[in-house]
Amino acid sequence: MAEEETVVRARSEHTISRRNIDPDALRVLYRLNRAGHTAYLVGGGVRDLLLGLKPKDFDIGTDAHPRQIKQLFRNCWLIGRRFRLAHIKFGDKVIETSTFRREPEPIEAADEATAGDTDIYQHRNNTFGTPQEDAHRRDFTVNGLFYDIRTFSVIDYVGGLRDLDARLIRCIGDPGVRFREDPVRMLRAVRFAARLGFTIEPQAFEAIRRHHAEIQRAAPPRLYEDILRLFPRGTAEASFRLLADCGMLADLFPEVADAAIQDGADAYATWRSLAALDRRVREGLEATPALALATLLLAPFHWCVAHSRRTGHDPLHVVLARALVGGVAQRYRMPKRVAYEAVDLLSLQHRIEAPRESSMRRTASHPAFASALTLCDIASEAGLAAPEAAAPWRD
Ligand code: ATP
Ligand code: MG
Repeated sequence: MAEEETVVRARSEHTISRRNIDPDALRVLYRLNRAGHTAYLVGGGVRDLLLGLKPKDFDIGTDAHPRQIKQLFRNCWLIGRRFRLAHIKFGDKVIETSTFRREPEPIEAADEATAGDTDIYQHRNNTFGTPQEDAHRRDFTVNGLFYDIRTFSVIDYVGGLRDLDARLIRCIGDPGVRFREDPVRMLRAVRFAARLGFTIEPQAFEAIRRHHAEIQRAAPPRLYEDILRLFPRGTAEASFRLLADCGMLADLFPEVADAAIQDGADAYATWRSLAALDRRVREGLEATPALALATLLLAPFHWCVAHSRRTGHDPLHVVLARALVGGVAQRYRMPKRVAYEAVDLLSLQHRIEAPRESSMRRTASHPAFASALTLCDIASEAGLAAPEAAAPWRD
């Protein structure tokens, strides 16, 4: 399994400083360590710290078993049935702490499919592992790095340091196997590459191009969650361009891929819409799920409206918006509240762009009005609405 030579980068040879680690995460690391356990910062936190970015969360890996973790922390909650993960709570903050574990052997995974007795599977699958095995079960080399609180060194069992330097998203193990094991990893590869400005390593990229359609096997709520994770850092445009390049866009959002190839539709309008949203997000706007979705569907929506006009119908904006959003909402089992708001955001566009004296007050008091104005600005920037179409409403 371990083809990679283990690399240990000492404190003086890397840039991680404890000042940049959340004090509560440090508290957990130190307490585990003082109790005689191995305690590492793991995953995305180490990656982001090495890149000089601010990590979103700090996850911890340890050789302490869940019950031992629980004994050390009063504010600890064990969760999950399969892997008893420890959540250590500090106010609203959760420090996720998990015992090193290994990937189930393929034969055990096959057992699961045939075994009637799931307890046996859970027992076996729940096998804890060594730090090295824990690194190898992770998705990408840059996500498999450990920071050891005892020595302040970075431990690399998977070639992650080399790939961070080369700015590559590389699978741990065979990409074809790892992506088929868990197709969501394909979407994750795209997210990390877009967000970090990295390249997906060629073999992994080819594997995604080969297996992209398998993304449809993933559980809808998990897909929904991971799609939303493409937006908050202002890198949605890069993410969706990459999804299109590797073939996954048509699997995930056929309506967006279709609008781009329809006669008369502007293939680049979706990229421009997402770029306009990204710019605002980088300036501090929160991309709510409804605004993110409505921005993504903006170009297809305009295409539907235009198509309806061309065929001699007076477009019914609400009906068109419902049909478009409804398809996506059903596919991803989206919360109804989000779907309704996305419909409102799209159908309000018409009322904002072509206001009627009699209904202006009603439009302006709509709960989604502020967000709809933002979407209108995005549409103007993307060339899908007249320049400054929302401006009169701001006076
Ligand atoms: P972000 O900054 O977006 O949270 P992250 O790297 O922390 O990125 P998470 O989804 O929070 O990603 O997962 C934490 C870690 O768990 C990852 O860094 C990776 O090591 C591991 N991991 C998560 N999902 C998978 C998966 N599907 N397959 C293998 N390992 C995974
Ligand atoms: Mg994370």
